Amino acid sequence: MSTVLIIEDEPELSRVLRSYLEQAGYTVLLAGRGDTGLATWEQRRPDLALLDLNLPGMDGLSVARQIRRSSDPALANTPIIMLTARVEETDQLIGLEVGADDYILKPFSPRVVMARVRALLRRAEAAPQANRVLRALDLEIDLDAHTILRAGQPIEADSRPLTPTEFNLLAFMAAHPGRAFARSQLLEAAQGEASTGGHAPVLYDGYERAIDAHIKNLRAKLEPDPKKPRYIETVFGVGYRFAKK
Ligand code: CA
Repeated sequence: MSTVLIIEDEPELSRVLRSYLEQAGYTVLLAGRGDTGLATWEQRRPDLALLDLNLPGMDGLSVARQIRRSSDPALANTPIIMLTARVEETDQLIGLEVGADDYILKPFSPRVVMARVRALLRRAEAAPQANRVLRALDLEIDLDAHTILRAGQPIEADSRPLTPTEFNLLAFMAAHPGRAFARSQLLEAAQGEASTGGHAPVLYDGYERAIDAHIKNLRAKLEPDPKKPRYIETVFGVGYRFAKK
C-alpha cells in the first residue's frame, strides 16, 4: 500500500487526515515542520506528500522546490498536494509553478483530500515510468537497468560489471554530489536501503573496512585512474563523497 507524508503544523488537522488515510489503508508519516518534513521525505521516500504552505522551519513552497530539485528522479517526481489557507490565487499559482501537482484550500473536508490523494496516486501509477537515470558529472547511471555510461560509453567495456553493493553505493553518493557520507551511512546505502542518516544503523565489526574495500573495487571499475579518483573522493576523518565537479 502507498505511503503518504503529511507536512502540516496544525496537530488537529494532521490527526484528522492521518486517521482518514490510515482507515483507507495508507501508511502515514507525519512532520510538523518544513525542514523535518523534507528530511523525512528524503529518508522514507513516500508515494505522495500533503504539504502545508505556512510552516515553521521552511515554508511549503521551498519544500516543494527542494523536492523537485532532487537529483534522484524517483524522488523528484513525488506527487505533491499543497494545502493552503491563503485565498490569494497567486499563492496557488506559485504552488503549481514550483511543481505541486494539486492544491486544496483550507478549510477542506477530509473526503475531498482523500479523493484527490487517490486520483493523484492513480495518475502516478498509470503514468509511464520515466527513465530513472541519474546524471552526475559525465556519468549516466540507469537505476533500473543497472548500467553506467561514462562520457556516453558503457564502463563495463573495459572492466568487470559492478556488484549490486557497488552499484548501490555509487547511486547513493551520486544522488548527492558534494555531500560527505560517513561509512556507517554508506553501509546502509550499500545494503540497498536509501537513507541519508538520522538514525544509527546496526554496526558490525569491520564495517569500516568493508566499505573501504567496496570503494576500492568501485574505483577500480569506475575511475579512469583509481589512484587519482575523479568521482569518488575520500573525505578525511569522515568517509566518502561523490565529486561535485
Ligand atoms: Ca500551517
